[in-house]
Amino acid sequence: MNIHEYQGKEVLQKFGVKVPNGYVAYTVEEAVEAAEKLGSSVTVVKAQIHAGGRGKAGGVKVAKNLDEVRTYADEILGKTLVTHQTGPEGKEVKRLLIEEGCDIQKEYYVGVVLDRATSRVVMMASEEGGTEIEEVAAETPEKIFKEVIDPVVGLTGYQARRLAFNINIPDALIGKAVKFMTGLYDAFVAKDCSIAEINPLVTTGDGEVLALDAKLNFDDNALYRQKDVTEMRDLEEEDEKEIEASKYDLSYVSLDGNIGCMVNGAGLAMSTMDIIKHYGGDPANFLDVGGGATAEKVTEAFKIILSDSNVKGIFVNIFGGIMKCDVIAEGVVEATKQVGLDLPLVVRLEGTNVDLGKKILDESGLDITAADSMADGAQKIVAMVK
Ligand code: ADP
Ligand code: MG
Repeated sequence: MNIHEYQGKEVLQKFGVKVPNGYVAYTVEEAVEAAEKLGSSVTVVKAQIHAGGRGKAGGVKVAKNLDEVRTYADEILGKTLVTHQTGPEGKEVKRLLIEEGCDIQKEYYVGVVLDRATSRVVMMASEEGGTEIEEVAAETPEKIFKEVIDPVVGLTGYQARRLAFNINIPDALIGKAVKFMTGLYDAFVAKDCSIAEINPLVTTGDGEVLALDAKLNFDDNALYRQKDVTEMRDLEEEDEKEIEASKYDLSYVSLDGNIGCMVNGAGLAMSTMDIIKHYGGDPANFLDVGGGATAEKVTEAFKIILSDSNVKGIFVNIFGGIMKCDVIAEGVVEATKQVGLDLPLVVRLEGTNVDLGKKILDESGLDITAADSMADGAQKIVAMVK
């Protein structure tokens, strides 16, 4: 789960990470009031969307007086920002962060991630802040420094100091940078983050070390014990179909293609997407209905696929192990009864109760193309949507 920058800064502050003063605003009036309250000579108006690259896309503006705050707030609120992280459709801005302008001396990067290869939390830092870290990693990887953190001892003082020295934080600010990094690591662990990224961390003219941006990402599996984090969820930033799917405990991820997939088992779901690609098609989603799905759950899953206007055909690929083929068939029939179906539908069923499943589909009167194998089904659906 993601949260907004201003929420991330609230979380980090509690762990001793310094951030500029600021307030969230939902309207132009609130933005101006926030700027008045801040009373700083320079105010920054920042679009709050769950994506980075806002600066380049015109979502971060520096205002020198209240009139400019009003102008920029008016301009950014309601605007659809297209950044390299939003996809071409962009994201509409519904909230702003009105923040004190900082006298930036230099921008750095600090990020904490889980490294699956070493099964350790890793803190990364670079003096190339403010730009995309992926570019730094590709072009000048020697400028990224890493510390692998032992979970028992946590981030040690010497590791944080070594990072601060390596990225050339001025000597006088090393102590503050160490406190910053320690707070960031503590927040990452305490809040069950999967990513905590500060880009940029800045040193300022008055000798501070601040987080100017904050991207926190949380492990969904730990949300049950992070009530305060869960409350920060902004459903408007999430895909409607994914929200709907999560209500029924379905693993669903929206994709860009036009072939809707209904599959049981994550491994089979991935191979189904692969084989569709292999035959020149594009999957519209990843969907794992799970092992013990009921007909009701399958119905909801099918309705979610049908609600995607990009979907031009559906491929149901089921291997009935724990899941029974007749349950899938019932779900498909029930969903199409409820919402109708005028798209090509290819079904490949195999395994437990396959004959009963096929019989239910045959007798449903639905226009279904049966497939003998995964490859056969993929080829058929790809041909039908073309
Ligand atoms: P994004 O990463 O989405 O582009 P950032 O929050 O990193 O958004 O802001 C982009 C740039 O805007 C920063 O690198 C920094 O140079 C500038 N900036 C952001 N917030 C402030 C601030 N409070 N004071 C001064 N400059 C800022
Ligand atoms: Mg940034």
